[in-house]
Amino acid sequence: MLSYTEARQKVIEVAGAISRPLPRTHVEIEQAFGRILAEPVLADRDYPPFDRSTRDGFAVRASDAHAPGVRLECVGELRAGGNFSGTVGPDECVEIMTGASVPAGADAVVMVEYAKREGKKVVVERAAQKGDHIVPRGSEARAGAMLVAPKSRVGYAEMALAAQAGATRLEVFCAPRLAILSTGDEVVDARTKPAPLQVRNSNGISIEILARTAGADPIQLGNAPDEKNALRKFMERGLEADILVLSGGVSMGKYDLVEQVLADLGAEFHFAGVEIRPGRPAVFGTCRKKLVFGLPGNPVSTMVTFELFVLPAIDILSGALARSLPVFRAKLATPVREKGQLVHFLPARIEWEGREARVTQLPWQGSGDIVALALANSFLVVGPERPEINPGEWVDVLPRRGAV
Ligand code: AMP
Ligand code: MG
Repeated sequence: MLSYTEARQKVIEVAGAISRPLPRTHVEIEQAFGRILAEPVLADRDYPPFDRSTRDGFAVRASDAHAPGVRLECVGELRAGGNFSGTVGPDECVEIMTGASVPAGADAVVMVEYAKREGKKVVVERAAQKGDHIVPRGSEARAGAMLVAPKSRVGYAEMALAAQAGATRLEVFCAPRLAILSTGDEVVDARTKPAPLQVRNSNGISIEILARTAGADPIQLGNAPDEKNALRKFMERGLEADILVLSGGVSMGKYDLVEQVLADLGAEFHFAGVEIRPGRPAVFGTCRKKLVFGLPGNPVSTMVTFELFVLPAIDILSGALARSLPVFRAKLATPVREKGQLVHFLPARIEWEGREARVTQLPWQGSGDIVALALANSFLVVGPERPEINPGEWVDVLPRRGAV
C-alpha cells in the first residue's frame, strides 16, 4: 500500500501524462479570479513609467541638500500627474507630491516633515542622499518584461498587476469538469426527509465546494444505488467529465461495488488503498482516458482524501503545478495517543499565542463525525512512529482549507 505522499505523487504523475494541450478560453479580468493563466501578462511600458516620488516634500539636488540648515529656492510645484517643464538648478527645489514625476535636475526628495517653508525659501532640516524617496523609472519592470508567468493562479495581486498593465482580457485554461457521484442504497437527497435508517447526502455538497474552490467546474450526478447496472450507467455519465469523483462503495463490504464496476468499464488502477486513517480505502484510476477517484463514503474520509488526492489532479488539469500540502509544525497542547500502522489525520484546532501556534486534538467519533470536523480548523498529522505525543512536543498540522 502507498503512503499518502507516494499516492499524491502518483496522482501528479498520472494527471501530468493525460492528453494535452489543455483547452483555453479568454475571460474579462473580473472573471479571471482563481483561474490559471495560459499566456503571460507583459509590461506594456516601464514600471514605474517615470521616476516617481514616494513622498510629499521637495525635489532637490542631493549635492545641495547635503547638510541640515541648507536654504533652497522653491521654483515650482508638482502634483501627481502634473508636469514641470523646467530643470531644478543649483540651490533650487520644487515642491512635489506623492506619485508625481521627479523633475529634471533633481535626484532626491526631502520629506515635507523634514523641511520648513519660509516664504519662497525652503530650509532643509535633514541631509538628503541621492535617490531618497524616488523609485526610478523601470525599476519594478522594464517594458516587455513578464509581469505574471503562464501557469500562475490569478489572485488579487495578479489581477491588480494585469489591470495596471492594461491586460483586461486574459487567456486562461478552462476549468476541468469534475463529476460528483455519491453511492449507497441508504443515501438520500439532502432536501428530503430520510427514513429512520437512511442518511442524507452530505458528500455531494462537500465535494462540490472543495472542487469549486480548488478551481474545477463541478457537475452533480446525484446518488447511485449499490447495484452494478445502475452504478455503471451513472459512471458512464460521469466519465464524460474530465474527472469523476465517487463517494462510498470502495471498502470491503459485500455491497461495495465501485471498483468492480470500474474494472468492468476497463479502468486501470493506480492505487487502491493508502496508508492513512481516515481514508484508507481510497481508489485512484484511469478509465476511458479520464481520472477517477473512489473516495470512501464516510464524510470526513471523503473530505480528507479529496484534499490529499483530488486537489493535485484539479491543479494539473487546470494548467497549474500541483500545490504542495501546507503542512506546518505547531506545539501540541494536549496528549495524543494513536496506535497502528497508518498516518492519522485527526480533527484539531490551531490557536495562535503570539507567534506560536498551539494545536489541540478535538474529541471525535471517527470518520463519520462531521460535527467534530466543523469545529476543527485543521488536522493533526500523526504517523505510526509516534504512538504517544505529549504536550509541548512539535507536531505536524494541516490547515483545513478555508477554516484558518
Ligand atoms: P461506504 O464508504 O459506502 O462504506 O460508506 C461509509 C459510510 O459513509 C456509511 O455510513 C455511509 O452511510 C456513509 N455515506 C456514504 N455516502 C455518503 C454520503 N454521500 N453522504 C453522507 N454519508 C455517506
Ligand atoms: Mg456504501
